[in-house]
Amino acid sequence: MRKRLSVVEYTKGILSGDRVVLSRAITVIESKLDSDKVLAKQILREILPFSGNSIRIGITGVPGVGKSTFIETFGKHLTSLGKRVAVLTIDPSSKRSGGSILGDKTRMETLSNDSLAYIRPSAARLSLGGVADNTRETMLLCEAAGFEVIIIETVGVGQSEILVHGMTDFFLLLMLAGAGDELQGIKKGIIEMADVLVINKADGANQNIAEEAMGTYRNALHLSPKSASGHITQVVTASGLEGKGIPELWNMISDYQKLTSDNGYFIRNRQSQNLDWMHERIRQALESAFYENSVIKRSIPEIEKLVREETELPVVAAERLLALFLTKKSEEPI
Ligand code: GDP
Repeated sequence: MRKRLSVVEYTKGILSGDRVVLSRAITVIESKLDSDKVLAKQILREILPFSGNSIRIGITGVPGVGKSTFIETFGKHLTSLGKRVAVLTIDPSSKRSGGSILGDKTRMETLSNDSLAYIRPSAARLSLGGVADNTRETMLLCEAAGFEVIIIETVGVGQSEILVHGMTDFFLLLMLAGAGDELQGIKKGIIEMADVLVINKADGANQNIAEEAMGTYRNALHLSPKSASGHITQVVTASGLEGKGIPELWNMISDYQKLTSDNGYFIRNRQSQNLDWMHERIRQALESAFYENSVIKRSIPEIEKLVREETELPVVAAERLLALFLTKKSEEPI
């Protein structure tokens, strides 16, 4: 294990925008060592007052939709405006590939060499909840290090979009036109979460069908109720490859930031995200305390057997186990 710095050294380094120290602090946050967990909390407590000053943008879409190309072009546009951009990735499939596919060095090569940009793939963790915690905390560190735009990228393959939506201010869904199934396996709920649907790869021969798809989605969304933010979900076309539609998208996001700051939604949404994060953490902790409790571990096979055999109702069985947990909890502190 590489030598750790002191809390003061991490804090100073992060606040001065030192990306080597920032990366090392993120490594501490991602570590499973108990000593690092203590250190991570100390660092986070120090930098918390300097965090939050950014727009957090979630970007999702199925593999192949053009996320990395799009983020590279979008990120370059932002750095050309003098903005400091951090790109964090949540990759729930990384366990399968034995390493983060989003960590592939060839992704976003130009952007990663830009002095105003910082790219960090999330380390593979056993649970999506763990990845989400790391990403949220990493985001805070990046903000304290002066990054004004935080992009959180996720592969559109399920649960992860909901997590990313729950930790960002603006949610961008990349889509393809004419890819067979209109919804490309993207769940309806995900479309409803989006602040903007971007029909990507609207270039060359694809341009026309992209525009047609835009019309179709606009009509479909016309029926959706107005969101609590006061922003109406937009449908646009873009080409990450050619850069088309990228400046307009950034203008839209800036307008969104202004609108929601003025009407109070921006801060309210972040407050409720923080509360959700806390409650989620409580649920996780309770669940692991329950399943790791030795009394529960011993009792569960027998009670499961009763439920399988329909000798015991699942609800009654659950209550029995919970009662056991609650009476035995003093032996094993949570
Ligand atoms: P990701 O898997 O969503 O990150 O997608 P990539 O950015 O890796 O792109 C997948 C493929 O689509 C690559 O072959 C890209 O060259 C291509 N691609 C990405 N963006 C565009 C675009 O805007 N237009 C066109 N025509 N191709 C694109």
